[in-house]
Amino acid sequence: MEQESRERALIELFGALEGRYGPNYECKYYPCHFEGQDCSFCFCPFYPCFIYELGMLKKTTKGYVWSCKECNWIHEKEVVERVLEELSSYPRQKLIEENWLFFNRIIQKIYYGREIGEFVGKSYVLMKMDGDCKECEVRFLAIKLDNFEITDAEERNDTEVSKIYELDAILIPILENGVLYGFKVEGDKLIGVSCKP
Ligand code: SF4
Repeated sequence: MEQESRERALIELFGALEGRYGPNYECKYYPCHFEGQDCSFCFCPFYPCFIYELGMLKKTTKGYVWSCKECNWIHEKEVVERVLEELSSYPRQKLIEENWLFFNRIIQKIYYGREIGEFVGKSYVLMKMDGDCKECEVRFLAIKLDNFEITDAEERNDTEVSKIYELDAILIPILENGVLYGFKVEGDKLIGVSCKP
């Protein structure tokens, strides 16, 4: 996310915290998601969330971008109210200064009911690979962020935990043909798993 977009997200967040939220019938794009949508977070404070149930990573000529085109969730009234309830407990200055991980932990708490991500060494593994996952070869993406902006996304297939220890990246699954490819940690090994988002 460019700096300008992050600023816009914070401005919208602060406006919503002051009670300016709901549908924006005056917007020429309304309704860009669904009739009656809440437009408070046109610029989402959690961007890029890396939650594949909500959005997806796309490769463009300018590099990787997180696409929110199909995300209706952040425009649901109940979700907006829950986000505002959560974020209203923090001073504005903290919301300005906090990093991606702070906001991501909050969206995980709201969306999943708990933090599903965890640090493995310096890397933050953000994968919800449970349910009907099958074992497969190890594939995942190592994302680098600079102030909410994706600066690099490298496909990797390491099988040793020691390899991801020093990556200092956000590790997320790869989505290909409607299937997520990631890993689970077992002892000092990474075991490849795939499942539906
Ligand atoms: S997918 Fe939805 S929740 Fe995630 S960053 Fe985009 S708008 Fe926000």
